[in-house]
Amino acid sequence: MKISVLAGGSKGNAVYLEAGKTRLVIDAGLSGAEIIKRLAAIGVESSSLHGILISHEHSDHTRGAGILSRKLKVPVIISTRTRKECESLLKKCEIIEFEAGNGFTFRDISIDPFQTTHDAVDPVGFTIEADDCRYGHATDFGIVTRLVTEKLKNCTALLLEANHDEEMLMNGPYPWHLKQRIKSKHGHISNNESISLLDDLLHEGLEAVFLAHLSETNNDPKLPKSAAESLLAKQNLCNPQLFIADQYIPSRLLAI
Ligand SMILES: [Zn+2]
Ligand SMILES: [Zn+2]
Repeated sequence: MKISVLAGGSKGNAVYLEAGKTRLVIDAGLSGAEIIKRLAAIGVESSSLHGILISHEHSDHTRGAGILSRKLKVPVIISTRTRKECESLLKKCEIIEFEAGNGFTFRDISIDPFQTTHDAVDPVGFTIEADDCRYGHATDFGIVTRLVTEKLKNCTALLLEANHDEEMLMNGPYPWHLKQRIKSKHGHISNNESISLLDDLLHEGLEAVFLAHLSETNNDPKLPKSAAESLLAKQNLCNPQLFIADQYIPSRLLAI
């Protein structure tokens, strides 16, 4: 399995995942041209992609989905309800629909979409399995439900949201209603919540951890990084590589 976070942050999210013989972009929150550029930067030819998997309709996850799908002639893989929200964006795109809670096969990989709590019509996280590797992907959720924790267990690689530092959010410039929305169970999880989730998910097979969807305004990459480093230093179950997603620069293509 190979993974690169092409972009991670409130201004746009996209992940490249190569699993088995399948190449996916998970979320397409940058322009189509920018995603193609970032794929090239990690040495991936965009014409080799097989599909675009979408977690929910917010524009920081869908902005480039339609154009990329039409240009590369690959399907958008999306939940039925999310698709309805994105109708205008996905005109003339090939679509593969799924339902949260129903795992399915796409080419040679298994995809299991699971429900998250977020202010979108049908938000999901994913686990994806191929080649004896299991990738867990969860961003944009306001609380860590038991379902999320259960689904993300036993992953070889994990991508978790670490959206904000609670103090920076509360003392920051956002209007009160927006602070409330972010903190609510339909918003985003904080660094502390993310690290505590990671703590629950540590096991000997974990090889890589990506912390993603950091707020530019309400977070400082040093905070989740040092919190994750100190968590990892005080356990001896595993020794995963740690990556903090960047909004502007794709992470290197990691093979696990
Ligand atoms: Zn988002
Ligand atoms: Zn969202």
